[in-house]
Amino acid sequence: MVVETQAEPASDALKTALAQFDAAADCLGLDEGMRMVLRHCKRELAVHFPVRMDNGTIGEFTGYRVQHNLARGPAKGGLRYNLNVSLDEVRALAMWMTWKSAVVNIPYGGAKGGVIVNPKQLSVRELENLTRRYATEISIIIGPNEDIPAPDMGTDAQVMAWIMDTISMHRGYTEAGVVTGKPVSAGGTLGRAEATGRGLLYIVQETARQFGVPLQGATVAVQGFGSVGAVAAQLLARAGAKVVAVSDSGRGIYNEQGLDVDALMPCSKDRSPLSEAPGGDHVTNGELLALPVDFLIPAALEGQIHERNVDSVRARFIVEGANGPTTPEADAILADKGIFVVPDILANAGGVIVSYFEWVQDLQFYFWEEGEVNDRLHRVITRAFRDVVAMAEQRGVSLREAAMLLGVNRVVEATRVRGIYP
Ligand code: NAD
Repeated sequence: MVVETQAEPASDALKTALAQFDAAADCLGLDEGMRMVLRHCKRELAVHFPVRMDNGTIGEFTGYRVQHNLARGPAKGGLRYNLNVSLDEVRALAMWMTWKSAVVNIPYGGAKGGVIVNPKQLSVRELENLTRRYATEISIIIGPNEDIPAPDMGTDAQVMAWIMDTISMHRGYTEAGVVTGKPVSAGGTLGRAEATGRGLLYIVQETARQFGVPLQGATVAVQGFGSVGAVAAQLLARAGAKVVAVSDSGRGIYNEQGLDVDALMPCSKDRSPLSEAPGGDHVTNGELLALPVDFLIPAALEGQIHERNVDSVRARFIVEGANGPTTPEADAILADKGIFVVPDILANAGGVIVSYFEWVQDLQFYFWEEGEVNDRLHRVITRAFRDVVAMAEQRGVSLREAAMLLGVNRVVEATRVRGIYP
């Protein structure tokens, strides 16, 4: 049988992550030693492992788990199942997780993992076999006090349940706090599945308030209709915004009068193509990014808004649901065009914030009501938004630069005060 396991060329995500860090380091006047520590990932594990496929053959897969920094607490970050996964991409994503946790001031370092695989090509049994074997391979560095994975592209609550169960079988007791984003029936928290999309809603609301833009009737386009994008679109539509376009990896659907997002939600759950959904005209992903909307929410992959297409972007605000959707070159051009960007490490932090709440509940064996989860998320993410806006005003910089300054500085402080051992 044929199983796609080939990675496409390494992404530019690491270049973007390092360029953003270097700019913050310059601004903070960091010395060479501190730069060296923070430019590198602390631990990098690459694993090659066999998986028994349904037809009796053995598939060989490659995965990674990378911990960028542990100065502020255990490593935290998602797991990606995608054919484009590469070590450099995982490093970049791990680094962004460090700054993200610091910006929203939760006690975590940054990590990320991934397997080079197209999960859609596997049966459920093959996906479970792959997940349990990968979890076993990385079990030497994950744990509730060490490194806590969570869902990302191509993984979900079921994958987290398999990982939690695998680690628990090894240790001989239930280790709920080893992953977050689990089903509620297996130690997950209420509100986690919607947390990143809900965080985006709160950030759009804060941005609208800051600029005096009424959210009622504000137009929104969302690229990526998965765990993050679909929930953000749904919550924004319920809050009164007019979601005019959404897309998936194929293409998108557009309706100037506003889409019926609730009717489109099954496409997100069963991954059926939006191009076959009723209720609007077809648009390509390129056309969606160029729509003249109030809010553009890229919620798919990194590097989607770049030097070659940024001129066509006509949104007033970009709120980054995905990690690294805008390249540094495009970022500079957007600033010149007066387009206000709320950066990923702030805008999509709802997921890690509620993951933190899940972990706290698991460690205490005491679970909260959903309203408490959402209220606390609102409090943490709006405080972070206001902190970042204040920093931007004080330093005269963009929100991305301000978020980086805030996040990097908190990690620097923790690193300095802990000292260099021995
Ligand atoms: P997902 O797999 O649930 O959904 C991804 C969506 O993007 C799907 O609709 C897919 O069809 C679409 N897509 C894939 N390639 C595309 C392309 N080239 N053009 C347009 N659409 C494309 O993934 P997710 O969990 O929603 O993650 C999306 C982004 O959000 C990623 O960058 C991820 O790192 C980031 N993120 C996720 C979380 C989380 O809690 N899941 C938290 C923070 C950030």
